[in-house]
Amino acid sequence: MLAKDKDKVLAKIENEVLNLPDSILCDYRRENKYLPVIGKGSSSAKIIFIGEAPGRNEAKTGEPFCGSAGKILDELLLSVGFSRQEIYITNIVKDRPPKNRDPLPEEIKIYGPFLDRQIEIIQPKIIVTLGRYSMDYIMRLFGLDLEIEPISRAHGKSYETRASYGQVKIIPLYHPAAAIYNQSLKKTLKDDFQILKMV
Ligand code: URA
Repeated sequence: MLAKDKDKVLAKIENEVLNLPDSILCDYRRENKYLPVIGKGSSSAKIIFIGEAPGRNEAKTGEPFCGSAGKILDELLLSVGFSRQEIYITNIVKDRPPKNRDPLPEEIKIYGPFLDRQIEIIQPKIIVTLGRYSMDYIMRLFGLDLEIEPISRAHGKSYETRASYGQVKIIPLYHPAAAIYNQSLKKTLKDDFQILKMV
């Protein structure tokens, strides 16, 4: 698919999320005049980064990872020479959960299929999951249920699998928000990011 066609289909997804029938997170979005956060970056990216759900800054601007977790993500991307323009960044859940609580299984069920479609359109060779929610979701999506481990063991590993469009590597990493007040975890994230240099 040409980049401009991919952009069109991604825009269609955005429209569908915007017009989702009532659910807790959509009601919350509408009440607070928030925006859904669909994703940003290149529709032809070789690498896609998947977080959990938007926070307040993200829901106000519609941009993924534009708050304090985003600052750490930018530092990490810079450390391996990536710019946001050449990758794609999104979340499993596209609307902000109240008080930044963890997404509920039924919310992941509503928004997950949009992420599945984004992956099919972008066709990344590498899927980097940020945090345990996206690790669990993506590993199950690709039939790696039996290989799921706690993120404390899985972080920085690379899991080879197949998508409908070819080979894919899944790389689970800690969520950058976990590193905001934890320097040792930030160092671990920085070390784990090095694996992306080899791609
Ligand atoms: N945390 C996430 O998981 N996603 C964002 O977009 C921002 C913070």
